[in-house]
Amino acid sequence: MLNLILFGPPGAGKGTQAEFLIKTFHLIHLSTGDLLRSQIAEDTALGLEAKRFMDKGELVPDEIVIEMIKSKLDANRDAAGFIFDGFPRTVAQAKALDTLLNENRMPVSGMLCLEVDKQELINRLLNRGKTSGRSDDQDVSIIENRINVYHEKTLPLKDYYAAQNKHFLICGMGSIDEIAERLTSTVKSLQE
Ligand code: AMP
Repeated sequence: MLNLILFGPPGAGKGTQAEFLIKTFHLIHLSTGDLLRSQIAEDTALGLEAKRFMDKGELVPDEIVIEMIKSKLDANRDAAGFIFDGFPRTVAQAKALDTLLNENRMPVSGMLCLEVDKQELINRLLNRGKTSGRSDDQDVSIIENRINVYHEKTLPLKDYYAAQNKHFLICGMGSIDEIAERLTSTVKSLQE
């Protein structure tokens, strides 16, 4: 079983690259951002609660996202593996994920961290905002807050996975194909 965490700041290309990796390695894509946005679109109580945080570029409380991931894992017990995109984002989420996966004897295979320059991230997000309709991609101060939250709360996860020898740094600059190639060869090395 292949359980990959696609890691990196907002705008690093996680969603784009996840699409490519799920096809190549037949994995199930679990994006907490997408799951939260569909809750908002369906006007659920959870969506309303999450939106208050997302609109400001803040993280949604751990319990909410952990519960969402738990129910997706339970619903896909026969999967060949998962690609976690935008999750975990805090050490508490990473610990909860380890507990969930270890219960089913399917530990994290690797954390693939895409590294991209800050100005390039801002340009990519503003560009995406023109077509995605996402309000958090259209305002530079919200984008900067999301990048700051990443540095403060999410980046410490590098050490968490490095301590387990599961942290892989991938250059996220260049063309989509070049980045996909770097990711694929790292994932193949994990399978050996
Ligand atoms: P994303 O689509 O991954 O950029 O996420 C968009 C927004 O959803 C983030 O800015 C957070 O407000 C929220 N979000 C997504 N995933 C998580 C997570 N794992 N933990 C907390 N908040 C999250």
